[in-house]
Amino acid sequence: MPFNDQVRLEALVACHRHCCLCHERKHTRIACHHIIQEADGGPDTLDNCIPLCPDCHAEVKAFDIRHHPGMTSYSAKELLRRRDDWYAIVERRCQESVAAMQRTPSSIPRSSALQGEIAFDYSNHDGKYIIGEGNSEFLTRWSRGSKRTIHAYTDNTNLSIALCAPTVGLNHIRDSSALDFSSRTRSPSLGEILILENHKGRYAAVKILELKSRNHGDEMDWARMAYWILDDGTTDFTTKG
Ligand SMILES: [Zn+2]
Repeated sequence: MPFNDQVRLEALVACHRHCCLCHERKHTRIACHHIIQEADGGPDTLDNCIPLCPDCHAEVKAFDIRHHPGMTSYSAKELLRRRDDWYAIVERRCQESVAAMQRTPSSIPRSSALQGEIAFDYSNHDGKYIIGEGNSEFLTRWSRGSKRTIHAYTDNTNLSIALCAPTVGLNHIRDSSALDFSSRTRSPSLGEILILENHKGRYAAVKILELKSRNHGDEMDWARMAYWILDDGTTDFTTKG
């Protein structure tokens, strides 16, 4: 039997959709694998489940060690240890994000609504601005680029960030989790959309509407943006535009 939906959900949240062996973020390309195989009596429980990417899954299942001297297959014991170690790392990172949010001064400007338009001086508050609240809270951080571009960061935030291609509108973003969240900084230009994922796995989209820059003849550093938050854990913005 495959794992039921509740077991799969718990496992995918616990690993943050990163493979438990190679630790790469794999979003939809991840499978829930039985540590002790079903054929050997392995139960369909959370404890017997390890989320793996296709490559690692293939390695784990690939060969019978007796026919490959000099190679070392994965034992159930090792898979269990590696899985538990990775879950602990993800949990610790999540707690660090929560602690960072709690340390955040209350003076940082914020907009708690799930959707709206914001305008702020990004030279204040270390470039920080908070959108949303609770599980759907996103601590964003920005710095000066030009009159056409602004820099966004993940440092000292609770976020991963990804930049959509210049021609992509909100109504094209169906699976946010498939975007490239691998960098700590991205530089969206006017009209472009930045996707945010917070430590609770919630997604938000931010569109850059207007920029002012003291380095380029303006009196202040200032940005105006539109944003949309998906507070139900989904990834699809196509109906939000
Ligand atoms: Zn892997």
